[in-house]
Amino acid sequence: MNVIRSMVGMARWSRSLRRDEMCIGFVPTMGALHAGHRSLIRKARLSCDAVVVSLFVNPTQFGPREDFARYPRPFSRDRALCEAEGVDVLFSPSVQAMYPKHFQTRVTVAELARRWEGATRPQHFQGVATVVTKLLNTVTPDVAFFGQKDYQQAIVIRQMAQDLNLGVRIAILPTVREPDGLALSSRNAYLKPSERRTAPVLYRALRAGAQAVRQGTRSARSVERIMRDRKSVV
Ligand code: AMP
Repeated sequence: MNVIRSMVGMARWSRSLRRDEMCIGFVPTMGALHAGHRSLIRKARLSCDAVVVSLFVNPTQFGPREDFARYPRPFSRDRALCEAEGVDVLFSPSVQAMYPKHFQTRVTVAELARRWEGATRPQHFQGVATVVTKLLNTVTPDVAFFGQKDYQQAIVIRQMAQDLNLGVRIAILPTVREPDGLALSSRNAYLKPSERRTAPVLYRALRAGAQAVRQGTRSARSVERIMRDRKSVV
């Protein structure tokens, strides 16, 4: 497996594969890899000739009081996981390489980024859209793989790829969960034991809402009430 740290080195590697008409699959991540990331890597491995995984903790998608400094960065473990999964390139640029001095361009997806998570994290999706554009322009994959766990992120990126004619297919894959239903996430490590015990109520509420819709409930307020009722049964 190649570990590439420079933007130019990554672009050169991709160019040489494209000359041979190889299909490149790409999985962008912030590292601290777990079975959720692994499912995206495996899908990429099955669908493409070559697989690139990026590890980059992107400062521009964190708010001023968020966890950028303490976000886990277990590089050796991540490299071993990628190696074991048959990844061809681990692309791990520095912050300076990604955002050189005088960097000043931003990508904004106006409508989709405004609500939900965007309402409480005002700069988040602009940071995500900007870094993913840069990564896609550098890696030039045929397909890029994203998790449904971050659903709003995935649809923001799909819209952006379409609007900007990035020429990449965006694949959105199902959420990998713990046996009790909690979605795998690097940030689950921050949960106190009592919070960890409570967290699976989110999935139970989602399932109750989905079941209500399947059984014919059509009013959003009723679905919401059913989900809240389910949530309170811990
Ligand atoms: P992150 O490293 O958190 O930026 O995530 C990188 C990619 O992995 C994103 O597309 C996430 O949606 C995806 N991902 C993270 N956790 C999971 C999970 N539990 N199941 C499926 N995909 C995931």
